[in-house]
Amino acid sequence: MARTDAIVLGAGIVGVSVALHLVKRGLAVALVDRGEPGRGTSYGNTGIIESNTLFPAAFPASLKSLMRIALKQAPEANYHASFLVRVAPWLLAFRRNSAPERLIATMRAMRPLFGRALAEHEALMAEAGASRYLRHTGWLKLYRSDRGFAGTARERAFAAELGLPVRVLDVDAACALEPALAPVFCHAVFWEGAASVSNPLAVTCAYAARFRALGGVAVTGDARSLHQVGARWRVETAQGPIDAEAAVVALGPWAPDLLAPLGIKLPLAVKRGYHRHFRPLGNAHLARPVLDADNGYCIAPMEQGIRITTGAEFAPRDAAPTPVQLDRVLPPARRLFPLGDAIEEKPWLGARPCFADSRPILGRAPGWRSLWLAYGHGHSGLTLGPVTGRLIAEMMTGTTPFCDPAPYGAERFAKAATALR
Ligand SMILES: Cc1cc2nc3c(=O)[nH]c(=O)nc-3n(C[C@H](O)[C@H](O)[C@H](O)COP(=O)(O)OP(=O)(O)OC[C@H]3O[C@@H](n4cnc5c(N)ncnc54)[C@H](O)[C@@H]3O)c2cc1C
Repeated sequence: MARTDAIVLGAGIVGVSVALHLVKRGLAVALVDRGEPGRGTSYGNTGIIESNTLFPAAFPASLKSLMRIALKQAPEANYHASFLVRVAPWLLAFRRNSAPERLIATMRAMRPLFGRALAEHEALMAEAGASRYLRHTGWLKLYRSDRGFAGTARERAFAAELGLPVRVLDVDAACALEPALAPVFCHAVFWEGAASVSNPLAVTCAYAARFRALGGVAVTGDARSLHQVGARWRVETAQGPIDAEAAVVALGPWAPDLLAPLGIKLPLAVKRGYHRHFRPLGNAHLARPVLDADNGYCIAPMEQGIRITTGAEFAPRDAAPTPVQLDRVLPPARRLFPLGDAIEEKPWLGARPCFADSRPILGRAPGWRSLWLAYGHGHSGLTLGPVTGRLIAEMMTGTTPFCDPAPYGAERFAKAATALR
């Protein structure tokens, strides 16, 4: 029987970052995953470290957009009809949270995390030898309609107020920045402060290697075996049972599989998303991720090829893939950038773990003194992994947290504060 101070369940970017921050503070830590680190949702994202993100993804504001989604004509969203009844309460809450004043409140609540996100990645990358994956080349967003561009005015005004670097570019300037792009758009906004990585899996693996180098233990096991033995937590692993004083749930979209049997029911939904890599034609090259805003997809240069990622699909987490959005976005993507053949046979499918208020849960599980939650990072888990690791480790070790964690507490859902176990 191995005894540790903390068990971290889930070795995605969030769990690995939490485990690394705990071990850096002198704790004995076991990191448990059913597979290798970084192969879950953290594998397939767009690689953007969006430290100057302001407004979260929102429910469609116009009836026209909603109708396009309902009629399955929208590239940015898809759904499985049989799932709508189950996800309806979450969608209604998401809609409420998309009111303009709520988006501003979310922006303010999330700013401490986003504002530190890049610096926390840079610090971990420096010590993990992973800085070569980081590009300080910003994020380019393209608009094919005046209306789409006009919709960015409020966010740009807030960015100016907060001193975040953002530049409106005309078509020539955007094409000068990315010469392989065809001028099929009419406006561009260049978020210069954003960064990106060329291989999200390699970054998570580098942080996991650093965790092991500092004495952390990474083991294979099923997180659902977590149970209490007296006042301690125990998990069964390939190396036998491991005990700890505290446990951290960082299972991303799989967190409810462990929490529901413990009686912790928090309203998480998943927004599924796909990616596929393509060979660029000739010498075509991209230096940064590009969003084709009116068509709802991103195109990002990765070590594996040019990665196209899709928007949200509302479907059961484990349902068979239905990558229709990739089919919808490929024609406009090919008109924008000279894409050659697909590299993999099949698209990759991941599931963004999302709460309807676009905030993760970071803090104690309601009613538990020694069970911690770090999940629900939605569209921004790569960005927020390291800053989450720092905040959770500060809370767990009794250090003054770098920001007020109250906005991220589970209590916002589980109103009745039960006695701590
Ligand atoms: C298409 C797409 C594009 C995205 N683009 C971006 C982006 O550009 N920037 C950004 O910041 N974010 C982006 N995201 C979001 C980001 O990828 C996620 O928020 C993030 O990866 C979540 O990380 P996580 O560690 O919480 O979860 P995961 O990476 O899913 O990790 C959870 C881990 O738990 C393990 N696990 C599950 N069940 C068990 C069990 N029973 N026992 C043991 N282990 C278990 C899994 O194996 C997995 O390793 C994107 C997401 C998608 C889908």
